Amino acid sequence: MREVPAKSHWVERGMVELLYRSGLSRATARWTAGRGAIYMLHSVVPDRRTYLDSDLRTTPAFLDGLLSHLRAARVDVIRLDEVPGRLLDRDRQRFVVFTFDDGYADNFVHALPVFERHKAPFAIYVTSTMIDGSLEGWWLGLERLFRCHANVEIAPMQRRWILDCRRDRANAYQKTCEWVNQDVRSRAAWLRPTFARYNINLGKITREVGMTVDQFRQLAKHPLVTVGGHTESHPNLVQLCRAEACGEIVRNKAYLETLGDRPVDHFAYPFGRPNSCGAREAGFVRQAGYRTATTAFHGCLAGSGRCDLFQLPRVGINRPYESVSLARLQIDGTTAAFRRLKAAFHAPE
Ligand SMILES: [Zn+2]
Repeated sequence: MREVPAKSHWVERGMVELLYRSGLSRATARWTAGRGAIYMLHSVVPDRRTYLDSDLRTTPAFLDGLLSHLRAARVDVIRLDEVPGRLLDRDRQRFVVFTFDDGYADNFVHALPVFERHKAPFAIYVTSTMIDGSLEGWWLGLERLFRCHANVEIAPMQRRWILDCRRDRANAYQKTCEWVNQDVRSRAAWLRPTFARYNINLGKITREVGMTVDQFRQLAKHPLVTVGGHTESHPNLVQLCRAEACGEIVRNKAYLETLGDRPVDHFAYPFGRPNSCGAREAGFVRQAGYRTATTAFHGCLAGSGRCDLFQLPRVGINRPYESVSLARLQIDGTTAAFRRLKAAFHAPE
């Protein structure tokens, strides 16, 4: 089935190509790009059109093309460990870091061979329960639910969806995720009867998509790979009390260090939005002994002193389409500059 992007995506793609091919993004990068950027990715699959959650999927072919582009453009692809030092170094060329969240088995199966071919490093932020199979991955369950069923009732949301085409299914999936994200702790639990009714088994899905202990160990000892923490059960940390949040962070770190027999120095906040990580959570991560923490706040990395190592922004590559031009605009700081402009024009008087 061929994905048909919405009309607005064609307009956006046109603008992206114009900004990139005109050279405008590279010309303005000296003011907008900062010292470097961190790409945020999740799952790597041969054909992302199979899935409704395209913002979580990328392809090996795209990664291959992007790594070739970065090498030709003389942008350094560096290890996550090097970020604090590189932020202090004014004289080095710009850098990017590739990070993959959650702990998908496909990071081992599909991403690793591409990065090995390019001799490029990358980092994985791993949730403990993704490996042991007990993750309550409601977002994965919703993707499966809307992909496999055309008539879906989400009773706690008081919505029934009649879905004719892929675009409708993706839209229903997106809307339901947004609804859960408003109160993850309660609403994820409210979805359990819905999943049971449609025979969606979250444990089975996690065991299908999560990396195995053996895959994790191989990645942990691989010279190109840095392992980072991503909590025990992928909660919204803001919604937990201090003891619960610290327990999630500390137990995950200990689990990964024991399993991989390596120190784990870097962390990514689950969800990573302003409503899921703030100064309190940054304090917990620092106390747990981490050296850096990344968010899903969109942006490039300014020089040290202006960049909080426990609230590092990232740029998400994935849209309903994939494009090296867009990935380049993001590390040139063009997309972040547009967002700031848009926010300024929409700011209340
Ligand atoms: Zn995550």
